[in-house]
Amino acid sequence: MATKKTAKKKAVELIALQCTECKRKNYTTKKNRRNNQEKFEFKKYCPFDRKHTIHKETKIK
Ligand SMILES: [Zn+2]
Repeated sequence: MATKKTAKKKAVELIALQCTECKRKNYTTKKNRRNNQEKFEFKKYCPFDRKHTIHKETKIK
């Protein structure tokens, strides 16, 4: 199948949500860069901290 990289830029970007306490990337989500200029920030359950913590958007790699 097609293995060549396409030149087109996608508006939707895959991002990781990183726990602000243990710095682990627990979640991934999709973000539409056109609609969401600001960084995502969610309160989510962290299995390592065993509690809900703030998770901030970060790059996957
Ligand atoms: Zn954590």
